[in-house]
Amino acid sequence: MELQDKIAIVTGAGSGIGRASSLLMAKQGAKVVLVDFNQTTGEETLQLIKEQGGEAIFVQADVSNSKDVQNYVQTAVDTFGRIDVFFNNAGVIQKFAPLAEVEDAEFDRIMSVNVKGVFLGMKYVLKVMENQGSGSIINTASTAGIRSEHSASIYSASKHAVVGLTKAAALEYVKKGIRVNAICPGGVKTALTSSVERMFTETGYVPEEVSVMRMGRYAEPNELAEMVVFLSSDKASYMTGSVVVVDGGLTL
Ligand code: ADP
Repeated sequence: MELQDKIAIVTGAGSGIGRASSLLMAKQGAKVVLVDFNQTTGEETLQLIKEQGGEAIFVQADVSNSKDVQNYVQTAVDTFGRIDVFFNNAGVIQKFAPLAEVEDAEFDRIMSVNVKGVFLGMKYVLKVMENQGSGSIINTASTAGIRSEHSASIYSASKHAVVGLTKAAALEYVKKGIRVNAICPGGVKTALTSSVERMFTETGYVPEEVSVMRMGRYAEPNELAEMVVFLSSDKASYMTGSVVVVDGGLTL
C-alpha cells in the first residue's frame, strides 16, 4: 500500500476530487482527517471510508477562517501525532460573468476560499511538517490556473495564485524535506453536474471544457485522485513545484 500508516489531511473532502482522493488514500493505508464546510457531505465521506475498512475523522471547518484552519491542523496532530500529506483542495467556482460585470463581493468570496484558504492551510501545516522534516502538499489549481478561462476572470486569477503559492512554497521548503505540487483538473464530472451546470443555463455561457470534449467525456473524480495519491506518496520523491495537468487534452 502506497500510503501505509501515513497521516493525511484532505480539505473539501465532502465532494468530487476531495472525496475520491480521501477514499483512495484510505484504501492505500492512510489515516485521513476529512475537512469540509459541509458537515453532511463530510460525514458521508467518513462513513464511506469506514465501510471500506479505513480509518478517518471528520472536522467541520471554513478553510478561509484562520481559527478553523488552526483547529483542523491541531486536531490532526492531537489525534494522529503528525501530518505526512496535505491535500489542500477546497475551492469554489465563480458565477460566470464578463470582468466588468463581476460584483465586488464575488471577488472577495472567490479569493477568500481559493487563495486565502490555500495560504492558511499551507501556513499551519508547513509549521508541523517543518518540525518533522518531511511532508507532501498537493494544492488543487485548475487549467484556469495556467491560462485564462472565458467569463471566469476571478476564478482564473485565484487559480493562478494557487500555482504561484505552490511554486513559492516548493522553493522555500525544498531543503526541509517538504514537497509542494499542484494539480490542474479540466472538467470534472461532479462539479459539472451541480452548481456549474446551473450557471450554464443562467448565464448562457458554455465553458471550453464542455465544448471541447477531446476525449468525449469529463474526468471521473477518481482519475484525479490517482494523481493526488501518486504525488502524496514516496514514489513522487523527486517532484516538487510541479504543476501537473490532468485535463483529458483540454489545453492542447
Ligand atoms: P470538485 O469537483 O473540484 O472537487 P466540488 O465543488 O465538488 O469541487 O468540491 C468542493 C468541496 O469544497 C465541497 O465539498 C465544498 O463543500 C468544499 N468547500 C467549499 N468552500 C469551502 C470552505 N470555505 N471551507 C471548507 N470547505 C469548502
